[in-house]
Amino acid sequence: MGFTPSTIKEKLARPLIELEGELACSRCPLYEQRIERGEIVVLSEGSLDADIMFIGEGPNANEAKNGHPFLGAAGNNLDLLLAFAKVNRNRVIVANMVQCAPWRYRDLINKWEIGKPKKKENIDECSPWLDYKIMTSKVTLIVPLGTTALKKFLPTTIGKAHGRVFEIEYTPNKIEDLNLPPGTPTSKKLLIMPQYHPAITVNDPKKREIIARDYASINDAANRLVEPPPIEKYTIVKTQDDWDALDREIRAAKRFCFDYETTGLDYQVDWAVGIAFSTDGETGWYIPTFDDWFDRHKVIEWMAGYLEDPEYEVIAHNANFEFHITNTELGRTANTTNYKDTMIEYYLLESEWIGLKDVALRVLHIRMTQIMEFIGKKKDQHRTMLDASRENLEGVGMYACADAAITMKLHFIAEERLHAGGVVDD
Ligand code: SF4
Repeated sequence: MGFTPSTIKEKLARPLIELEGELACSRCPLYEQRIERGEIVVLSEGSLDADIMFIGEGPNANEAKNGHPFLGAAGNNLDLLLAFAKVNRNRVIVANMVQCAPWRYRDLINKWEIGKPKKKENIDECSPWLDYKIMTSKVTLIVPLGTTALKKFLPTTIGKAHGRVFEIEYTPNKIEDLNLPPGTPTSKKLLIMPQYHPAITVNDPKKREIIARDYASINDAANRLVEPPPIEKYTIVKTQDDWDALDREIRAAKRFCFDYETTGLDYQVDWAVGIAFSTDGETGWYIPTFDDWFDRHKVIEWMAGYLEDPEYEVIAHNANFEFHITNTELGRTANTTNYKDTMIEYYLLESEWIGLKDVALRVLHIRMTQIMEFIGKKKDQHRTMLDASRENLEGVGMYACADAAITMKLHFIAEERLHAGGVVDD
């Protein structure tokens, strides 16, 4: 079946969930205007299977009369942008920050006009309706359309953030007002990908190109997120033969990325429980160096041979830390001249310091496992990667391999962009 604006609209034109009391809501002053003007609460619409939610500011006059969001020119533009971005309609929910039209009365000319829903009390009072749907649906990617919706999730503006992907742990403000079904988590990991409101293409045609480019990456972001890293190409080195195979791969590639898993972040006292490697951004290797596994001094001495050989290119994210751990272990300073730090590469490209997981999310749209999943949150910091490795070597090994492989992949992309931008010479 074709993917046309009318079919999208048909699919979207049904409430996502209609909560008890929602259509008669009188939580904020917009209620009185709604009753006075004979309008309807405009509920969020879309599929229960949706994983992407677009959030606008509030309904316009036509939408409030008909009770559906995103009608008219802005709605048509959204439909076209979804089609252009190849976003399957079953994956989309459309919603607003406030569900009643934010009218204001102009005394002087005795006329109503549509206003902004920026009054905090309106937005705050309406938020439980929206939050309930965010928390109970399958939504993982939120697309705020404009700064008002964006500020619900991040303290920035649409001009700065449009088209980028951010990962947040979202906890609704008025969680006690939500009356969530038993067993629903009270916080949720969300990706936020702010976009300009589709109405902008009506009012400012010059922004069309930017908007088309930004929207084109929505599907990519949503799709890639559900793909885990390719762990079938990751190997935990358990025998001398495995180690020899890694050695041959490094010799053939003449380059490698490395990444330590350590007992902590103080390189003067903490030590490596394992080292991950990748030569191509696809394969990953992990040498465990705790307990009866490999002797870490021997492994680091072996690696230092390549670190100090200028014929081998060395890549790391936040290389400073990796070199400190290496040097402490060696008892001398490894003389590494041919290395690249992806943290610096992405600073040059993005003008800010970004951690590996955030770069992976922004550039590759890959959601990587966070270290907290192994060692717990800050309040529980007595657990280390040593404990986690003893309990779950396979899990830590796959996690470490992904860090090395994705760092390598990010390096290839950064290198290409830096060359293309003339930031570095060939
Ligand atoms: S805007 Fe929201 S909170 Fe205010 S009356 Fe309408 S539905 Fe209720």
